[in-house]
Amino acid sequence: MASRKLSVYRAKRDFHKTKEPSGARKVAKAERLRFVVQKHDATRLHYDFRLELDGVFKSWAVTRGPSRDPADKRLAVEVEDHPLDYGDFEGTIPQGEYGGGTVMLWDRGYWEPEGDPRAMLKKGDLKFVLAGEKLEGGWVLVRMKNDKFKSKRNNWLLIKHHDAFEKEGDAETLLKKDKSVASGRSMAEIEAGKGKKPKPFMRKKAFARDAVWE
Ligand code: MN
Repeated sequence: MASRKLSVYRAKRDFHKTKEPSGARKVAKAERLRFVVQKHDATRLHYDFRLELDGVFKSWAVTRGPSRDPADKRLAVEVEDHPLDYGDFEGTIPQGEYGGGTVMLWDRGYWEPEGDPRAMLKKGDLKFVLAGEKLEGGWVLVRMKNDKFKSKRNNWLLIKHHDAFEKEGDAETLLKKDKSVASGRSMAEIEAGKGKKPKPFMRKKAFARDAVWE
C-alpha cells in the first residue's frame, strides 16, 4: 500500500545522486501519529509540513511557514506522499536534483486528527491537534475552492485555531526559532555537514551527519 503511494515520490528522485531515503527502510512503530516540519532552502525557501497517515507522510509545502496567529492564513501546497523515514532526513540535496538545497528538521512530534482523517482530507477540511516542540494546539488545513489556476486543486491554507497556543501578531516570531529539533544545528551548519548528528525520531538508527554533497 505505502509502496504504491510512493511511486510519484520515487519517480522524481535519483537515489544514486540524492541521499534522501527511498522509503525502503523500516521505521520504528509508534503509539501515536507522528508529524515533522522540514525547513527546506530550495529554489524558494519553504517549510514542508508532513503528517503520518496510513504508512506515509501526507505532505504540504508551506511557502511562508506556519504562523500561530489565527488571522494569518498560510498557503500550503499539497505535494506527493513522502516515506516515513523521510521524517529523519536532515542534510543537503545536491543542486540540479529535485528539491536541491538544504533541509532542516525544524519541528516534530505527534498529531491527532479531530475526526476521521481520511474523510476530512477528502472533504478538504482537516482539523487536528499538534504536540510538537514548536507547534502546538489546534490547527486546520482547508483546501481552497477557487484556485485561480482551476486545475489540480492542490492549494490549501494552514490556519491556527483559537486556543491557549495562539499568538496574535506573531507572524514571524516563530520562524526565528531557527535551529534543528534533531541536531540543534543552523541551516549553515547542516549545509557544511558540521555539528551534531541528528537524533532519530522515525527510525531506530540515525542518518549519517555528513549528508552533504559537492
Ligand atoms: Mn520541500
